[in-house]
Amino acid sequence: MNKKIADAINAQINAELWSAYLYLSMGTNFRAKGLDGVANWFEVQFKEEQAHAMIFYQFMQSRGARVVLKPIAKVETEWKTVADAFADTLAHEKKVTDLIHKINDLAIKEKDYATQNRMTWFIDEQIEEEEEAAKLLETAKMIGDNNVGMYMFDKELAARTYVQPSVLK
Ligand code: MG
Repeated sequence: MNKKIADAINAQINAELWSAYLYLSMGTNFRAKGLDGVANWFEVQFKEEQAHAMIFYQFMQSRGARVVLKPIAKVETEWKTVADAFADTLAHEKKVTDLIHKINDLAIKEKDYATQNRMTWFIDEQIEEEEEAAKLLETAKMIGDNNVGMYMFDKELAARTYVQPSVLK
């Protein structure tokens, strides 16, 4: 793996771990507000982001490249409403999609076929991440400050469970 690709993937491992940290922060924010189902959704998202970091981690090691971990920047700690958190989630996932596309562009430029192949998995994954965040944002906005609606939404999000991606060893 050439240095440009290795640097870009190391930066992406940091971005995925920052994402995990962001969603864990959202999780604890909603635990504190008594919305345990919403918190559960973000805690599962935390595990998914850790899995994304590990997929890159294992990919680099399979290719004989050294993973170099950098400091994780601080995250927000307060979200007033569920809609605010899903709006931030959607905006963040769009940024992540950009980062994934840039690594893919670099892999094409550097003729790194293995990295292009791995990025295809992430490109597909980002479609789902954006679709899900957009759908949940729309629902949260529709519910607004309707307590019964939020009670039901919270119950629905409590059902989310973590499924380990099949590409993770
Ligand atoms: Mg991710």
